[in-house]
Amino acid sequence: GDIASRAAALVRDVPDYPTPGVVFKDITPLLGDGPTFAAVIGHLAQQAPEVDLVVGMEARGFILGAPVAVALGVGFVPVRKAGKLPRETLSGAYDLEYGSAVLEVHRDAMAHGARVLVVDDVLATGGTAAATVELLEQAGSKVAALSFLMELSFLEGRSRLADHVVQTLLTY
Ligand code: 5GP
Repeated sequence: GDIASRAAALVRDVPDYPTPGVVFKDITPLLGDGPTFAAVIGHLAQQAPEVDLVVGMEARGFILGAPVAVALGVGFVPVRKAGKLPRETLSGAYDLEYGSAVLEVHRDAMAHGARVLVVDDVLATGGTAAATVELLEQAGSKVAALSFLMELSFLEGRSRLADHVVQTLLTY
C-alpha cells in the first residue's frame, strides 16, 4: 500500500497513557520496521522545502529529524529540554497540561537567516512546536516548514502555527 497506510498500520493506540483518558499514539512499531521507517524518512525528506538545517525536538524529533537531515544532506540541530545543552542557550517556556516546561537550543547553532525545517513525530496541542518556532525565530532563523509524522487534529495544534507551512503524513 501507500506510505501513509503502511505507517498507520504500525502506529498503536495506548489508552490511558501517560494519564487516564489520554490515548497515546505509540510509534515504536513503525520505528522497528526497517522498510516502513525508511519510507517515512524518504517521504519527509522528499516533501521538504529547500533548507539549510533540520531541527528536531527531544526526544522523538531526534529519531525522525536526524535521518531526514542526512537524507537532505544538511546538518541537524537538537532542541532539548532545559539543562541538557552544555553551551550558551536560548530558551523558551511553554505550557503543559499541568505547569510548564522549557526548551533550549544552542545560541550558536544556526547562522542568522538560516532556513530550517522543524521535524517531530506528533503535533498535538502545538505547544511544543510553537515554543520551538519562537526559539528559532529568536535565534534569527526562518522556519521554512514544520513536518510531523502525525497530527491529532482535534487538539487544533495547527492554529498555533498559523503563519507557517505545516505538513503531516497522518491525520487523526
Ligand atoms: P504538543 O506540545 O503538541 O501538545 O505535544 C507534542 C509533543 O508531545 C511532541 O513532542 C510529541 O512527541 C509528544 N506527544 C504528544 N502526544 C503524543 C502521542 O500521542 N504520541 C507520541 N508519540 N507523542 C506524543
